[in-house]
Amino acid sequence: MTMWITVDTSVCCGHGRCAAAAPDIYRLDDNGYCGIESLELLSGQEDAARAGAASCPERAIRIADRRLGPDPAAAS
Ligand code: SF4
Repeated sequence: MTMWITVDTSVCCGHGRCAAAAPDIYRLDDNGYCGIESLELLSGQEDAARAGAASCPERAIRIADRRLGPDPAAAS
């Protein structure tokens, strides 16, 4: 099953913990903020993606079986 990560960039504070946990998935921009808004995971990246999401103190990262919109309330 295809999985997607979605990052709510409006709450990302640039801790960089996601990238520390899973550097192949979460790339930081030049200012240290998560540089992706949504990304389709490759097969085998799911566990690393979850580890990165769990490490985010802002809970900015959502993982779902579809591409999510920017509204966190839409995630279920
Ligand atoms: S850990 Fe969360 S707040 Fe920090 S850079 Fe990653 S997405 Fe942003």
